[in-house]
Amino acid sequence: FDAHFGTQIPSSLKMRDRANNSLVAPTHINRYFFPSTYPVFVKDAAGGRIRDLDGNEYVDLSGGYGPHILGYSHPVVNEAIISGVTAGNVNGIGHEPEVELAELLVDAFPAAEKAILCNSGTESVLLAVRLCRAYRRRDVVVKFEGHYHGFSDQGMVSSWFRFTGDKHAPEPIAGTLGSDSGVVRNTLVFQYGDIGGLDRLREHADRLACVIVEPMPSSTAAIDEEFLSALRRTTADLGIPLVFDEVVTGFRVAYGGAQTIAGIEPDLTCLGKIIGGGLPCGAVVGRAELTDMARSSEDPFLDYEKKAFAGGTLSGNSLTCRAGNAVLTHLRDHPTLYEDLEARTRWLRAEFEESTRKRGIACRINARGSIFSLNFSHRSAGVYRERMAGSNFKATIALAYYMRKHGVYLPELHSFLLSAAHTDDDLAVVGKAFDLSLTDMAGD
Ligand code: PMP
Repeated sequence: FDAHFGTQIPSSLKMRDRANNSLVAPTHINRYFFPSTYPVFVKDAAGGRIRDLDGNEYVDLSGGYGPHILGYSHPVVNEAIISGVTAGNVNGIGHEPEVELAELLVDAFPAAEKAILCNSGTESVLLAVRLCRAYRRRDVVVKFEGHYHGFSDQGMVSSWFRFTGDKHAPEPIAGTLGSDSGVVRNTLVFQYGDIGGLDRLREHADRLACVIVEPMPSSTAAIDEEFLSALRRTTADLGIPLVFDEVVTGFRVAYGGAQTIAGIEPDLTCLGKIIGGGLPCGAVVGRAELTDMARSSEDPFLDYEKKAFAGGTLSGNSLTCRAGNAVLTHLRDHPTLYEDLEARTRWLRAEFEESTRKRGIACRINARGSIFSLNFSHRSAGVYRERMAGSNFKATIALAYYMRKHGVYLPELHSFLLSAAHTDDDLAVVGKAFDLSLTDMAGD
């Protein structure tokens, strides 16, 4: 794109070249899928803003893909981390912060009795599926098309981009090269929102370990409460554990996650992101009958075959737990924070919609509880694959590029996230940048 970047972001460009010589950065979507033409390397971050190596400031709507609901460098998190470092970071030995985090998690979800801590959302899904397989002594996992559950083979089956088979009974497809084909074969794929399709659960009930679903898929930022109720009823009838993946939505759309909004109790809930205050963290919470599949017992060797193993050297380390406790306590004690976020989300969504409407641009924006999903698409309905097929992804990528030019960091091809630290001023910058970016895009 523009030659003027040589003067605007010279240090980031230099760092990009240096990084490319030694670092494969698959966790950074903007370097994995499509090397960004506007790379940003952060020098520091505070509140709702980040600053790059050249001193350019951006209002950040990536939120680090989820953890930073209080914004960057929040004093309560900083203090917790600093005191944790001073006290010594402990892992693999019991300590109070891990007990406190488990208590906070269990208290947040009516359906949760016990928690197991791990290091990421990916790990929480691996663990939840293992607990269910151990409990049911069955292998097959049911998941929904387009739902990403972390980067494990299981988490990525039919998670994005490539879809085959009947839309009501999709064929499972590996989400990445290098997947174990056995995992793909042991997965059944359903459509979120397709209540009629749930009859297939009855047909396969005897093979099923569990059903895992994002109750509020981040690709749509919308909860289908009627569908979730039907799913809960059917799985309960059949005795199949229902796992909610609330790695993104837990403590974000409401303190108790999407399940609190929908009023539905899953058997297990997968968590991550916010619960570690920006440090690596994950957790499975849920019914003790399931979580206890991994419980230690008086005589571990005698009943070893009857248990599922949960491990992780750094799982529940005291530093992560202290950071998580600080964020969760703050969120719990400031319940109006969620109403404020919702109001800001509505305001910004209206700004976006006004900008696209006045230009006649087909753009579908779903926004709820600080999560925005934006697609340049004529389709507002239909199942996941149909909405994706109708979306102009090049325009979404171009938008991220122009928004950076106008002082806003958007992640490419990922939902945008507001934090409680974004000020009215920050939001005004975003609204204006969106309008200017659409003008730039129309002009190119
Ligand atoms: N589940 C969902 C719904 C996610 O969006 C993600 C990551 N964005 C994960 C699981 C995996 O979490 P992590 O990246 O922490 O492993």
